[in-house]
Amino acid sequence: MRKEDMIPYLANAALVSVADGEFNPDEAKAIDSIRKEIGAGEQELKEALNIVARGGLKLMPVGRFSDKVRNLEDMIFVSLADGKLDKKQKPEILSFAKAIKISQTQLTQLLSETKLRLKPQSGPIKCPSCSKEIPPESKFCPFCGGKI
Ligand SMILES: [Zn+2]
Repeated sequence: MRKEDMIPYLANAALVSVADGEFNPDEAKAIDSIRKEIGAGEQELKEALNIVARGGLKLMPVGRFSDKVRNLEDMIFVSLADGKLDKKQKPEILSFAKAIKISQTQLTQLLSETKLRLKPQSGPIKCPSCSKEIPPESKFCPFCGGKI
């Protein structure tokens, strides 16, 4: 990604995350991980947050198509960082998806992929009945047969 695209890219993600009227620690953490992923510095992030704080910013797709899709994915990522897609965040995401011309099918796919990305890293879990460690995603405990 070009350096000059990084600030608007981060601003897009930040704009969506503040659309629900708050910028909570989960969202701040999500934005910072996006910053690292695109290789931007603290300074770029600070500038992006300043732009958003000044207000009046409209979402602006930047970079190549793949960057735009990635940006959309990150916007979904930050929106879901606090566990929910707020009703004020959803229209922002939909309008961005429309602006970069991705299909409803692709958007739905991005949404479910992002939800997976946010799932806590699945390690062994404990059976609620017998407390033995069982593989994640188990429906029944292999030791006692208890339903998970
Ligand atoms: Zn069990």
